[in-house]
Amino acid sequence: MFRRAIKRRTLIALVVVTTFVSAWPSPLDPRTSPVAPTHAQVEAAVREAYDRFKNETAGKNADYIPYLASVDPKLFGIAIVTTDNRSLTEGDVNYSFSIQSISKVFSQALAIDELGADKVFEKVGSEPTGRAFNSVLAVADMPSHTGNPYVNAGAIATVSLISARNPDEKWNKILGFYSRFAGEKLSLIDQVYKSEAATNTGNKALSMLLAKYDRIYADPFESVDVYTKQCSVGVNVTQLARMGATLANNGKNPATGEQVIKAEDVPYILSTMTMAGLYDGSGGWAWHVGIPAKSGVGGGIVAVVPGKGAIAVFAPPLDEAGNSVKAQKVIEYVARKLNYNLFSPRSVGLKN
Ligand code: GLN
Repeated sequence: MFRRAIKRRTLIALVVVTTFVSAWPSPLDPRTSPVAPTHAQVEAAVREAYDRFKNETAGKNADYIPYLASVDPKLFGIAIVTTDNRSLTEGDVNYSFSIQSISKVFSQALAIDELGADKVFEKVGSEPTGRAFNSVLAVADMPSHTGNPYVNAGAIATVSLISARNPDEKWNKILGFYSRFAGEKLSLIDQVYKSEAATNTGNKALSMLLAKYDRIYADPFESVDVYTKQCSVGVNVTQLARMGATLANNGKNPATGEQVIKAEDVPYILSTMTMAGLYDGSGGWAWHVGIPAKSGVGGGIVAVVPGKGAIAVFAPPLDEAGNSVKAQKVIEYVARKLNYNLFSPRSVGLKN
């Protein structure tokens, strides 16, 4: 009787202590890096970046996909989601834009989840091409004949690796997987899909070239069609930041608590993002900013800061390589303010 009472009291005390500790953000909170900036620092950096770059007009909307040329070039939104699930937004945060090439990250994640990293590396590779994202020459010249999962050829090959009985099943699997990263149900922007499907002869040509080199693992045109759909998925900046924050958080969605991919798969993805996330602008990005990131011709960029969180920016005008001009500037500014550059010892707390 007496023993049982003690046990019960110990149990209650334990529950109280655990609840208290887990609700109390401490510098040793395992949900975030001990050297992560404070919420106030993050907020100040985002507000400053927004004000500083809101009137920037350099760059031009993508126009090879007719729909993208018609998007308002003044749209501008920023979101940060941290690994301890705080979020901060500024500007046009409810606008849903097409994810475009940023989707390639999450299809690579799905392929790795299904087949294992070694197989994906063997079948697709992870070698920067130094050429444009839709380069035919890169496919012909590179020994891997795919480059990496973030150029169109490698992305189409990646889609072809994902298992399904038919293209519809594959598409639904991909969309469902992206939604688990976003923590919300995502959907296709039909007009983007139609506009791109009517003009994607270059991607079809790439798929045929892959077939010539035995580097596509399902029907080439069906793979291009599913790829075109994945590029047409709509996201707002918060959803995109949450997708990135899931990678920053060891593959566990900080909002839903779901372990979407295995923690040990995250470094493969972030290393590819570092080497090839901004196409032929990746070297300059690593030099100036030093965070794994991925851009899309829709105007979005997501940058992932391991153990801290992710920042997503949307602004349609692009530079020559197809990367949003404003998004790059904002992320570079915020990264400098908050010591996010992974190549800097300051990012892990070394001060001098
Ligand atoms: N859907 C686009 C294409 O295939 C994606 C390109 C991109 O965002 N860089 O051309």
